[in-house]
Amino acid sequence: MLNFDYYNPTRISFGEGKISELDKLVPQGAKVLVLFGGNSARKTGTLDEVKQALGQRELVEFAGIEPNPTYETLMRAVEVVKAEKIDFLLAVGGGSVIDGTKFVAAAAVFDGEPWDILLKWGANVTQAMPFGTVLTLPATGSEMNNASVVTRKSLKAKLPFRNDLVYPQFSILDPTKTYTLPERQVANGVVDAFVHITEQYLTYPVNAAVQDRIAEGLLQTLIELGPQVLVNPDDYDIRANLMWVATTALNGTIGSGVPQDWATHMIGHELTALYNMDHARTLAVILPSLLTLTKEAKREKLLQFAHRVWHLEQGSDDEKIDLAITKTRAFFEAMGIGTRLSDYDLGKQDVDVVVAQLEAHGMVALGEHENIDLAMSRDILTLAL
Ligand code: NAP
Ligand code: FE
Repeated sequence: MLNFDYYNPTRISFGEGKISELDKLVPQGAKVLVLFGGNSARKTGTLDEVKQALGQRELVEFAGIEPNPTYETLMRAVEVVKAEKIDFLLAVGGGSVIDGTKFVAAAAVFDGEPWDILLKWGANVTQAMPFGTVLTLPATGSEMNNASVVTRKSLKAKLPFRNDLVYPQFSILDPTKTYTLPERQVANGVVDAFVHITEQYLTYPVNAAVQDRIAEGLLQTLIELGPQVLVNPDDYDIRANLMWVATTALNGTIGSGVPQDWATHMIGHELTALYNMDHARTLAVILPSLLTLTKEAKREKLLQFAHRVWHLEQGSDDEKIDLAITKTRAFFEAMGIGTRLSDYDLGKQDVDVVVAQLEAHGMVALGEHENIDLAMSRDILTLAL
């Protein structure tokens, strides 16, 4: 196992009815900015429940954080924080609202131009406002990690940052709040969580038995419950387990002491920034091709994945690895998610555009071996056509 530091200060309040605990979790007397997305929080009644739970506290609302939150919108929230002298932020929504709130928390007290936070991957964040979250979409793990991804529309750039100061103080996970999700978002969540796990598991072996076994259990849970939730969307236990899988997939548990890849995410971010593809759909397109082309470097873990996750025993090692990749693709397709660029009306001419953006953003040495250069990214994209 590799050396590691494990730190996760986020309190989780999990279960039906837990929104009422906001009164305990948000400081008394705080002036709170409640941030949310387009319309779902209002329409589903979750926003009203949150406001009721916050009682007599002074509240200001900030609506309109879009999927793949933009710097342009978030800087308007920063202005509200300053003008209204806000002292606590509360995100109500999915990964986009939570990521956006993390950026606002850091940008509102940042000395300088906040876009630099993204350009420096968060290393220059020295303070951040306190915030909590009410999660309505299990997918990203943002509710219990220190990462955020922000898009700057004018530059067609979607960049991540990480900093320990942007862990949420608490996150409320009420599985019943996910019943209203459209099928498309449920499927996106399952695939995003799946790829978070493979980014930390499908690298090279370091004898991290605990992390491996947990990762395998999480993958198997997704493979089992993903198709079930589409058929039984109102089943509490399915929703609860999917919600906790997505959080555990990216809260440090399986990522400590192991190599990490993240190339699928970095190439995927360019596809979203350029073509507005849903985050999870970009991952479903890139992952199978990436695994195919990095098969030699990932050989031992791919074989372990074939055995332990897909229970493949027949054939040569190569056949088992190929079948494990085929089954992964079929799983994404069974969730209703296309795994080819052509499914999203993208073709050969677009590959050059994506590669140019990777170069512009310095994404030239990706993966656990930092050997996915621009030529390799081009091959991965071409294989994904
Ligand atoms: P999202 O973009 O937050 O939300 C997608 C859609 O779901 C929105 O249109 C939203 O509608 C709707 N929605 C949310 N909750 C709902 C509910 N309970 N009922 C009905 N509709 C609901 O989706 P996401 O997949 O959670 O987040 C994606 C973003 O997270 C991407 O930018 C991605 O890059 C990022 N990400 C972050 C991390 C990380 O570690 N921080 C990891 C992976 C991905 P409204 O707008 O109307 O509310
Ligand atoms: Fe993701």
